[in-house]
Amino acid sequence: MTGKEKLLELIEENKEKIISFCSDIIKISSENPPGDTTRLVQFIGRYLHAEGLDYTVYAPQEKMPNIVGLLKGAAEGRRLVFNAHLDTYPCGDASRWKYDPLSGMVADGKIYGRGASDMKGGCTASIMAFTFLSKLTHLFNGEIVLTLVSDEETGGKWGTVWLLDNVPMVSGDAMLNAEPTSTAQISFAEKGRIFLEVIAKGIGAHGAYVHLGDNAIKKMMRFLSDIEHVVDLDISAPGDVTRVLEEGRQIVDKMKGAGATDVLMGITCNIGKIDGGLMVNMIPEKCRAEVDIRLPQGVTCRQVLEEIDQILTRHQGISYRVIQAMEPNYTPPDHEICLLLQKNAEFVRKTRVILNSGIGGSDAKHFRQRGIPCALYGPTSYNMAGTDEHITVEDLLTTTKSHALTSLEYLQG
Ligand SMILES: [Zn+2]
Repeated sequence: MTGKEKLLELIEENKEKIISFCSDIIKISSENPPGDTTRLVQFIGRYLHAEGLDYTVYAPQEKMPNIVGLLKGAAEGRRLVFNAHLDTYPCGDASRWKYDPLSGMVADGKIYGRGASDMKGGCTASIMAFTFLSKLTHLFNGEIVLTLVSDEETGGKWGTVWLLDNVPMVSGDAMLNAEPTSTAQISFAEKGRIFLEVIAKGIGAHGAYVHLGDNAIKKMMRFLSDIEHVVDLDISAPGDVTRVLEEGRQIVDKMKGAGATDVLMGITCNIGKIDGGLMVNMIPEKCRAEVDIRLPQGVTCRQVLEEIDQILTRHQGISYRVIQAMEPNYTPPDHEICLLLQKNAEFVRKTRVILNSGIGGSDAKHFRQRGIPCALYGPTSYNMAGTDEHITVEDLLTTTKSHALTSLEYLQG
């Protein structure tokens, strides 16, 4: 029996254990805000201890502890890092859920609860892959570092970023993460984003005496229709990224709706919030809006902001502030870790798995900023952050197997 066969056998034999572990960790609230993960870390710590696995808890913020586990292979070699976040979106109105959001209900081949998809399913896959690989350390070289972090939903300062800055072994040769990408695709890239607050200032007056006022809402309307031209900015995407996204176009457009690939490859602009005026018969003196701009590979935050400054020269009384900015980032799609994950996921699923870009940000950006290649692969998310969030048991097992097999092969290479 090969190492891979042995791994798959272990996972099959322990199916029920994997499912109930996922259900158990959903039952422990780690909603962010407030992002308190202490009870969840205690639970996982007890599990790792019972399995005889080596780990340390780092808590730069008392209520946001992080777990770092270490598994050593037979000899010196490369270091592979598993990264998963422990915090989840808030549960919201529990009465609207079919099952309580903290029930961890397993029914009809699905696992329900807040964080089931983002990302307690993925967390379970990483912890279980780590557990089963611990039975086969004689078959690989190097080491596996398991990082389970807090504070992902709110930026990562006390989680992944802190670990990368303070715990040397967290910087590996490659990183695998099981965020909910859908088992049909591996995410090798993430779009960047800029959130802007825009303020328009005018002169207030009585609504009947329009000659005395200067309407801030009208100024804002003109500016907001102009800012949408930011999507026409030139993009020079790397050739390998364009090639891979084009290869997946048909599948992605089928999965996410016609036009999804164009959205991934282009700049998008969404006006998400607007607020202005006091009364129908008053000329508003102030209007405030928030704009969400997403950046594909091949354009930088600086280029976009320069374009916005250019647009701004055409408008009077408008100012803006950057609420948040994040550069697009990617790992070359033909990097070994992406190709190995693709190969093993296809082996497990017995069907094609494409490489694709994610829309939302994950902790992968912090690894990529430090030059560490990352690939993401996890369950399909149903109702992420909404009511009745769930994943399928099948996806949980597919994710666990794919991560375990990829790790073994990477550390045998
Ligand atoms: Zn997530």
